[in-house]
Amino acid sequence: MSFKCCWLYSMLIPVLASAQQHMHQTGTSDEAFALQLHRQALVFDTHNDVISTLTMKGYDISHRLNVGNTDLVRLKAGGVDAQFFSIWCDGSYGKGQAFAWANREIDSLMAIIHRNPDKIALATSASDVKRIVAQHKIAALIGVEGGHMIEDRLDYLDSLYKRGMRYMTLTWNNSTDWATSAVDETLHADTLSHKGLTAFGRQVVRRMNELGIIVDLAHVGEQTFYDALAVTTRPVLVSHSSVYALDPVPRNLKDDQIRAVARNGGVICVNFYDAFLDPHFSHRLDSLVDAHPRLSDSLKQLYPETMDFQVHFLQALPEAAYQIKPPLSLLIDHIDYIVKLVGVDYVGLGADFDGAEAYPRDMDDVTCYPRITSALLQRGYSPADIRKILGGNVMRVLQANETGSRPAHATGER
Ligand SMILES: [Zn+2]
Repeated sequence: MSFKCCWLYSMLIPVLASAQQHMHQTGTSDEAFALQLHRQALVFDTHNDVISTLTMKGYDISHRLNVGNTDLVRLKAGGVDAQFFSIWCDGSYGKGQAFAWANREIDSLMAIIHRNPDKIALATSASDVKRIVAQHKIAALIGVEGGHMIEDRLDYLDSLYKRGMRYMTLTWNNSTDWATSAVDETLHADTLSHKGLTAFGRQVVRRMNELGIIVDLAHVGEQTFYDALAVTTRPVLVSHSSVYALDPVPRNLKDDQIRAVARNGGVICVNFYDAFLDPHFSHRLDSLVDAHPRLSDSLKQLYPETMDFQVHFLQALPEAAYQIKPPLSLLIDHIDYIVKLVGVDYVGLGADFDGAEAYPRDMDDVTCYPRITSALLQRGYSPADIRKILGGNVMRVLQANETGSRPAHATGER
């Protein structure tokens, strides 16, 4: 693992070692220890939307940007070692369009990689991740967000695998002809022609297992969720979802779903989006918008897309925005809830940066991951458990999905 600012860290190591034995010393040594742990650990986030949100709009994330949540400079500063980049289009991209768009987004990610060979490289396996991280580069992985991008064709699934796709969410908010989404199963149940996975949907899951593409159950409805778990022979990923018991939105995971992922040996990567953490956030945001009609009207003219508007609205009112955001401790509560329910082996980080309008206080962009390490230490987590949460659990699932490796056994649940 790389130490950024090596000389500084080498000077600090003796101090930090003793700090480890005296965790309840001053705040300063605790912070230094947290930073050292963070830099040493493999930090692996499973969901970032910067390709759709910035690069496809012409931004060059090679440099530090003053827009969005992500660029290569800030990923490095946040100690992010491996990142699944989301390849995404919405359901309006139909047959003849969605697969082509997915390929364009992959082209865009590959262009960034080719322009920055000293900073980032494509990883398609756990051993790639380890090698690239040892070279002090960011390991970039491809995750396709929405089964509609294969346009009901297994040859398109194979093609995206060959380009490097290593996870695919079976649905986005829109259902496919073969899998139903959380949004549709909960909000449009009476209009569905089928519910859960069809026979072809089960074929897709089997083909993903054969190729070594992780089955990602973020965004899917409960029926699809359990249907997919019944078929898959490999551990699943839920790349960016939080806990339903703490915030009952349709695509957060209920306790039984969390237990089912643990039995499968998979991992749930907690989404940092305020509305998926805090059941009252959306209401506070709506009230703030209502309280500023002139500002919101003019911004809606400039930014007709909802997320774009909300990002700019919150930026225009930084103090009020800070007040309505939940504290970082609420994000830690979601992690802690999963750990208490099933154990520490089934939770990870899937921030959804550049995919949502707001994140907890002081968690504004990808530079903020060290704060999670610090908060977990303060919650009493051991360094070994924190390493699992930061990336160790995701590495286990990535490896267990590789062709040739044996399916990982479930390691039991509490
Ligand atoms: Zn998503």
